Amino acid sequence: MISSALLYLSNQPQVFNFVRHNRMAKSMANRFVAGETLKTALAAVRRLNAKGVTASLDLLGESVHNEAEARESARQYIEMIDSIHRDRLDANVSVKLTAMGLDISEDLCVANMQSILEHAHDHGTFVRIDMESSEYTQKTLDLFYERLFPSFRACVGIVLQSYLYRTATDVEQANRECARVRICKGAYKEPASVAWPEKKDVDEAYVRAMHALMSDGHYPGIATHDEAIVDDAKRFARENDIPATQFEFQMLYGVRRDLQEQLVREGYRMRVYVPFGTQWYPYLMRRLAERPANVAFLTGNVIREMVGRRRR
Ligand SMILES: Cc1cc2nc3c(=O)[nH]c(=O)nc-3n(C[C@H](O)[C@H](O)[C@H](O)COP(=O)(O)OP(=O)(O)OC[C@H]3O[C@@H](n4cnc5c(N)ncnc54)[C@H](O)[C@@H]3O)c2cc1C
Repeated sequence: MISSALLYLSNQPQVFNFVRHNRMAKSMANRFVAGETLKTALAAVRRLNAKGVTASLDLLGESVHNEAEARESARQYIEMIDSIHRDRLDANVSVKLTAMGLDISEDLCVANMQSILEHAHDHGTFVRIDMESSEYTQKTLDLFYERLFPSFRACVGIVLQSYLYRTATDVEQANRECARVRICKGAYKEPASVAWPEKKDVDEAYVRAMHALMSDGHYPGIATHDEAIVDDAKRFARENDIPATQFEFQMLYGVRRDLQEQLVREGYRMRVYVPFGTQWYPYLMRRLAERPANVAFLTGNVIREMVGRRRR
């Protein structure tokens, strides 16, 4: 119920316009978002790298409204890749196709992605294409397999979501094509016609997809904070002689930092998804929806800080 309401609010731009300059909302966002500028995001990556954690930088800002905005997003991604290279950071980037103009024109989106990927190729880095809501799944995969992957194989990968019924088949295709996959549960509000409504089914589908990717895939990213699944991945790797260098765990900035550090100590690869930018509102709402207890937790923290500040 609360999750649905938060997911609904994540799609309401007028609410964002209201909270955009609200200090309390911004303080809440800081827990999950590495600031509004590339500079603050690079500083966050540097802190993660110092702890042995790699990163994937995401410029927040989903659907763009015109060609100029889409080209500007692509330009900012190229700047991000340059800065990562210049500062010798251990990070790659995650991109949403709607931010590259997918809703405006497929050719525009492909041209933007090609310029980012050429840049990534020249700098020996990797670009992950995030997966958005189910209305984009087929379009994203078609565009990936037909227009991007053939020319940029080692530099580009996709995301699959275990809540979709179709994902087992998509995992088979990715393994056949040797495409790099990040597997996650899925963050959007989806109807029962396309996605498992019960969490138990989503979790079971996740484990099946993860096993298939670990056995037959190509350097999968295991993106979850679910400790039972993390333990299962470790056990599966041990029992099937899969070295820890053949996959990586991935988590979100600000979520389960204890588990992130523990996995690094245990010798696993850990990548943190680091979102930044002014368009933090839909991202924040999706994170709150995943764990409504966060609303109380964050509100409590922010109020404590505000009271503390007033006392000082
Ligand atoms: C690196 C990365 C990239 C992602 N990319 C995409 C993508 O491209 N497309 C997409 O649809 N989704 C993406 N997601 C989001 C993902 O689909 C889930 O919505 C999210 O990861 C929560 O699912 P979970 O696997 O952690 O399991 P859950 O069952 O939701 O959570 C397991 C446990 O993790 C902790 N936890 C989970 N979320 C939070 C949170 N927000 N705050 C605090 N604790 C939390 C809680 O302890 C919870 O009990 C990504 C997630 C990660 C980690």
